[in-house]
Amino acid sequence: MAGRFAPSPTGELHLGNLRTALVAWLAARAGGLDFLVRMEDLDRVTSTVEHERRQLADLAALGLDWDGDVVRQSDRFDRYRAVIERLRGADRVYECFCTRREIREEIDAAPRAPHLHLPDGAYPGTCRRLSDAERAARRDAGRAPALRLRTDGEVITITDLIAGEFTGAVDDVVLARADGVPAYNLAVVVDDVAQGVRQVVRGDDLLSSTPRQVLLQRLLDAEVPEYLHVPLVLGPDGDRLAKRHGAVTLRELRATGWSPGEIVGTLARSLGLAAPGESPTAEQLVDRFDTSVLPRRPATLAELADVDGIGKKAAIDPGSTTLWPKSG
Ligand code: GLU
Repeated sequence: MAGRFAPSPTGELHLGNLRTALVAWLAARAGGLDFLVRMEDLDRVTSTVEHERRQLADLAALGLDWDGDVVRQSDRFDRYRAVIERLRGADRVYECFCTRREIREEIDAAPRAPHLHLPDGAYPGTCRRLSDAERAARRDAGRAPALRLRTDGEVITITDLIAGEFTGAVDDVVLARADGVPAYNLAVVVDDVAQGVRQVVRGDDLLSSTPRQVLLQRLLDAEVPEYLHVPLVLGPDGDRLAKRHGAVTLRELRATGWSPGEIVGTLARSLGLAAPGESPTAEQLVDRFDTSVLPRRPATLAELADVDGIGKKAAIDPGSTTLWPKSG
């Protein structure tokens, strides 16, 4: 039985990622679960070993330890392919030849009535209706197919520890890309099941994909884990935190004079787990972890920088939106 943190090693972790990692670690430790780290490096172009190394070093610097070896999705393609074959055997897989642009055009041409939450860019099902001859023609024209899940109008409600009840209609999600690389929604479910993950803590940008993942769990006769989607940290422009918002990674913040302990304290305060001026360690937060106090709304960089009471003040530079170097 485990909780987990599953970053993609495609860049450095920023304060928002670190905050989610802290919640994931605390939720697991407070619940007496193992805490696993899984590198979601399916995309071999953007994932690097250097990013992986740095992400792990950042977790360790904040006092977040993990159990067992770090699992890499790039080592597990055979498992994902075997599961796709299992779904194919249940007539739940079809080939899709659509390009992104064709999908976008189709969605734009036939806007749906806004009823249930559909995940962003939900696939309109175009290729599910192809005849054998049409499929053959596309293949002969040199198009490689992606593989999609054949859904059946399933509507799925999950109960999230932060977001509450969330109901979503499931679209024909991609299982493998046209280049053969297994897709995120499939891999994440296969791994969570294989690794005994009972608690999924991650950013709430993935809440809308969760019904897809729960459908896959059902099709694989797996149990549905507990979900906790952490509201994101936003930059001053209201967009989710990113590099362009200034010094937002542990390395950058350390260069401006922050210690890892102060960053844990700042994150804890923004999560409602520490009082102003207090800087508990991750370990000290385990006993007081309580999902009911976690914020229900996104955090802003300004809130995170609003640190005081320890004789050191941080502020937001309104021009560059960078966290200022601290002054004593
Ligand atoms: N790898 C995903 C990300 O970094 C998270 C996936 C998950 O936690 O389910 O956004």
